[in-house]
Parts: sequence; structure tokens; C-alpha cells
Amino acid sequence: MRRMENLNKYSENASWIEVSARALENNLQMFSDLAKTQFGIGVVLKGNAYGHGLENILSVIHSRVDCAYVISPQDAFWIRKWEQAQGRRPIRIVVIGTMGLSEALECTRQKIEWVIADSSWKEWVDAFRKARLVAQVHIHLDTGLSREGFPADSAAIALADLKASQDVMHVRGIMSHFSNTEDVTEQSYAHSQVKAFRESANQLKKLLGLDERVEEHLSASAAAMVLPEARLSRVRIGISLYGFWPSVETRISAKLVLKSLPHLEPVLTWKCRSQIVKNVKKGTFVGYGCTYRCEKDTWVAVFPVGYFDGYPRLVSGKAYVLIDGTRCPVIGRVMMNHIIVDVSQVIASKELDQELGPLEAVLIGTSKSETLPAETVASWANTIQYEVVSRLGAHLRREVVA
Ligand SMILES: *Cc1c(COP(=O)(O)O)cnc(C)c1O
Repeated sequence: MRRMENLNKYSENASWIEVSARALENNLQMFSDLAKTQFGIGVVLKGNAYGHGLENILSVIHSRVDCAYVISPQDAFWIRKWEQAQGRRPIRIVVIGTMGLSEALECTRQKIEWVIADSSWKEWVDAFRKARLVAQVHIHLDTGLSREGFPADSAAIALADLKASQDVMHVRGIMSHFSNTEDVTEQSYAHSQVKAFRESANQLKKLLGLDERVEEHLSASAAAMVLPEARLSRVRIGISLYGFWPSVETRISAKLVLKSLPHLEPVLTWKCRSQIVKNVKKGTFVGYGCTYRCEKDTWVAVFPVGYFDGYPRLVSGKAYVLIDGTRCPVIGRVMMNHIIVDVSQVIASKELDQELGPLEAVLIGTSKSETLPAETVASWANTIQYEVVSRLGAHLRREVVA
């Protein structure tokens, strides 16, 4: 009898994600070439490394980056554990999301930097003194996104008390985040953010007596490419590390600003093998709600992947997958754990005596000469590629391929 512990963590038949080490290295190199040595490259690993799998991404880039940004302290702790298990030198980690006091203390013990983005740090000062810990912190200024951070025009007032707390809160950086660099080709709002950042950061540096070593970081992928004046000490590269353009607008702007278009290569391929292929007769309904009816005898393949895994239900009626480089329509509704695909074209091209084994579909990625980008899946679901990839189930098997 097969014992539990011999079973895989992942179902052998479930869909899986391939992460291309070569593509990842290409994208990182693109930014290194852009930076020369003029600014640092930080990588954003939030959202399970944008759905690519934190461990997979780390295993490829860890030795090549000097700073990683995550949202949750748990991700930061996980990275420290992984580094220890792998015998690797710890890299700088900055937690850019919110956290509680005990997490802030633990971060500091593990030499993980964190961000002061609201007034909660004031109540933490005593606890840090008692624990004899000096936190390495970054101040988040809100320059126009109206998300986390101190409004830039009043930050100096809000942070006046920090001057007397620098024995336990050492300011290592000042940061902000853009609102719409990827939504436009003219950057007037971003310029106003840069200006607000400069003014407020200079005020804070004076107020807190910070020296020249204090880091300033402001740019995500789009600004790193299209707003050279905003690169400052270090950029925070998220989506483009994984090979995606932040938007069509960014791509247009990048060509103008950088003179030639940088080469970004998508890192991820999402694949699934069919669980059954069968012929259904003309007039047969397919899927929940009987929304699709076969107009002729149809070869259908059922794939064990659905919205639970991150394949959006909203793509129903619009989507196709790639099989042997052929676009095959997803028919009927996307279900929690299944999709049904019309594979008649693929079957028709097979020799009659060829055995009908499982079919391998590419849900995102390239199959032969045909590519199905995450952006296309996102457009079917009325969303952006950021959401599609970051929602790929954490339960899915991910493997690094060359
Ligand atoms: C997500 C995020 C980034 C990275 O943005 P991309 O557009 O994915 O490059 C950078 N900085 C902050 C604060 C973020 O939240």
C-alpha cells in the first residue's frame, strides 16, 4: 500500500507553472544595463513573486540582487529561513506593507528593514528601547497616490518626534510611489509627485539631521524606464522583472525615452494536461448553465483547471488555449476546477491511427509559434496582467526551467 508521505504535495494531474530562469535573468540584466552603476536595482517579490512563486524566483536571482521588497513580514521571515537553509548570504529586505509591533521587533532582530508609513511607530519606541533594538526604517511619503505614507506637505510636522527617537529608529531611506506613470504617455502628474517628494525629503533630511547616505527610492518598473530623473538611489522593479510591460503606454514611452525598446521576456508559462478527450454529438450542451451548444459533432477536452486555480471565470465565452500551437476555444463557462475546450482542430490534424493521449494546453505562454500573453487573458477578464498572475493559485506546482 502506498503510504501518505510518499504522495506528492501536488496532484500529478493538476496544472503547473514553468518559470524560465533565462527569461528572468534577461529581464534583470536589462535593468542592470540601464542602471550601469548609477542606481541600485531592487526587486519586488510581493504577491508570491507576482504569482511566479517566491522560492522559484529567489533561487534564480538571489545572488544577483541587493535588495528585495515584500509586503508581508511573513514573506521576509520566510526568505531569511530559506537563506539559512541554503547557506546563502542574507540580502537586504524591506517590508513595504503594514505590520504590528511584534512583527516590527522580529524584523529588526532578523535585520529586515521596514517602513514608517503612519503614526504607529510612536507607540513602539519604548518597546524597541527595552529590547535594545535599532530598527532600520524607511519613511513613506504620500506624494499623490493617497495610499500609505505621510502626506508630503505635512510630513515634517507628523515626523517631528522622530528626531528624538533615532536612537531606536534609524532612518535608512525615504520613499514614495507613483500613481499613474503606467497609465499615461505624458507625465505631468508624475512630475508633480517628484517635485513633492524632493521638497518633502529635503525638509525631512534637515529636520532629522540625515546624512547623504540616506536612500531615496520612488520608481517602480514604469518610472524606472520612462522617468530617468526619478531613479534616485534605487528602483523597485516588480512587473517587468517578470517580463511584462506595465502597460502599452509604458512601452510607447520607453521607446521614445530610451531610444530603443528594451527586450522583456515573459518568465511564466502555465500548462495543463487534459483529463479526458471525447467526441460529443451535434446539439450537445457544454458546461454549467448550458450556455454553449455544439453546432456539429465536436471533440472536447476537459482540463483540470478553473477559477480556484486563478483562471478567471470572466473569460468564459472569450478565451482560448494553445494546443500544439493552435488556438482552441474554451467553450461554456469556466468552472471552479474545470474548463472544457473544443479541440476538434487539433484532433482533425492527427493521423487516424494515432493514439488519443492527453493533450497539453498552454493557458498563458508560448506553444510552438503561437503566444498567448497574460495581457490577453487579462483583457478577456476586464483586468490587468498584474491581477491575473498574482492570483495564480499558491497551491499550484511551479518549476524552474532553463
Ligand atoms: C508593487 C509596487 C512596486 C512595483 O511595481 P511594478 O509596477 O510592478 O514594477 C514598487 N513599489 C511599491 C511601493 C509597490 O507597491
